[in-house]
Amino acid sequence: MPERVDLLVTGGTVVTVDAADTVLDGDVAVRDGRIVAIGPDLSSTHAADRVLDASCAAVVPGFVNAHMHETIERGFFEDMPFMTWLEDFALPKDRAYEPRHMVAAGLLNQAEMILGGTTSFIDIFRFPHEAATVAERSGLRATFSPQVIDDPVGPGETYETNLAFVDAWHGRNDRIRTWFGPHSLYTTRASTYEAMREQAEVYGVGIHTHLAESRAETTLIAERTGGLTPTQYLDRLVGLGPDRVLAHCVELTDGDLARIAESGAGVAHCPTSNAKLGNGVARVTALLGTGATVGLGTDSTMTNNNLDMVEEMRMASLVQKQATADPTVLPSATVLRMATQGSADVLGLGTEIGSLEVGKTADLAVVDLRAPHARPLLTGPGGNVVEQVVWSCGAADVRHTVCDGVVLMEDRRLLTIDLDEVGDLVDREAVHLLSQAGVLDTRSRRNP
Ligand SMILES: [Zn+2]
Repeated sequence: MPERVDLLVTGGTVVTVDAADTVLDGDVAVRDGRIVAIGPDLSSTHAADRVLDASCAAVVPGFVNAHMHETIERGFFEDMPFMTWLEDFALPKDRAYEPRHMVAAGLLNQAEMILGGTTSFIDIFRFPHEAATVAERSGLRATFSPQVIDDPVGPGETYETNLAFVDAWHGRNDRIRTWFGPHSLYTTRASTYEAMREQAEVYGVGIHTHLAESRAETTLIAERTGGLTPTQYLDRLVGLGPDRVLAHCVELTDGDLARIAESGAGVAHCPTSNAKLGNGVARVTALLGTGATVGLGTDSTMTNNNLDMVEEMRMASLVQKQATADPTVLPSATVLRMATQGSADVLGLGTEIGSLEVGKTADLAVVDLRAPHARPLLTGPGGNVVEQVVWSCGAADVRHTVCDGVVLMEDRRLLTIDLDEVGDLVDREAVHLLSQAGVLDTRSRRNP
C-alpha cells in the first residue's frame, strides 16, 4: 500500500540547503504541512492528493525576506538627494497613510512575494492589523513589527499602537507573529526602546529595528551618546540577542562585528537598498567570517524597487565581489543559504523553515529552468542547478510556491489573491495617498 500524502512535488532537482548542501534529483512529499520524505521516485511509494510538476526545475526552500516594508510607493521618488527625498516625499506621504492604503500595500506586496517564491517575510511599516489580515488570507508566513517613530510625530506607529497590536494578535494565527518595530535610534526615543525590551520579554517576542545604516546615523549617535557606536547604544537599550533583528548594519566597527556575532543577533543585509541610497557596503564577508547570523532583505519598494529575493542574492554577491576585489567571496551556495536558512535563523524560525529536510515545515518554491536564460542545465553530480538559480534566474522564473504545505501559486497562477483586483486597487489607492499627502503636486512642479 502506498503511503498517503497531501502533496508531491515531483521530478525536480531538490536543492535542500541542509547542513551538507545536499542537492539531489527527486521528489518532495508533504503531509499535514510538513515534509515527510525527500528522494527519487517517491510516486512509486506515495499516493498524493495533489501533484506539482517540478521537471526541469529546482525545488528550493521558500525565500525568507528578513527586512521589508509593505508599501504602495514605487517609481515616484527616484534619484534625489536623501534629505529632499525624506522631507518632500517620504515623511509627508507616511503621515497621510490610512488603513485603506495599507490593505492595498499588503495585497500588492504579498502577491509579489508569492509570485517570486518568497514564503516568509518580516514587515516593518504601518497599520499592522490591516497587513496581518491580508496575510491571513494570502497564506504567507509573516512577522509584523509596526514601525514606531517618536520624532517627528505622525509618520509612524506609536509604542501604544505597537503594544496594542502585539496584545491583540499574539498567538492568534500560527503563521503570523507580532513583534516590536522601533524604526531607528535617531527617530525612536531611548525610553521607547527600553519599554519595548520589557514588553518583548513579557510576550516572548522579538524586536526589529534599522541599525547603523548610514554615516550620518553613526555621527549623530556618537554626538548624542558621548561616542557610542549605534550597535553599542542599541545593545545598552535593548540588549543584543537572538530575537533582535538588525536591518542594514553597514557601519560596524570590528568590536561591533564581534559583539553581534557572539550575541546571536540577526543581521538583515539589504544590498540593493544600501546601494540605491548611497549608504556604502556592509561588511558581510567579515560578518559571515565571525559566525554572525546573516540573512537577506529587499527593504521597501521605494528603495529597491522590487521584492525579488533572487535578484537580491545576486546583488549581495556582486557588491561584495566588487568591494573586496575578490570574485570568490559569497559564492552561489552562500547567498542561497543567506536568502533561505540564514534569513530563517535571523527571524528565529530556523528550526522550522529555511531548508528542505524531513520534519521541517513545507515552505518551498519551484524555480523553472526551462527558459533560454537558464540553459545549459546540467543535473546530477557536477551539475549547475544552484548556479543557474542564483546567477541566471529571477522572481518571474518561479513556477510554484508552497507555504505551510499549502499551494499559494501553481504554474504562475496565484490561488489566494486576485491579481486583476489588486492592480486596479493599488493604482487608485496610490493616487489617493499621494494626493492627500500633497506629494503629487510637488512631483508635478518638479516634473512639469
Ligand atoms: Zn528599511
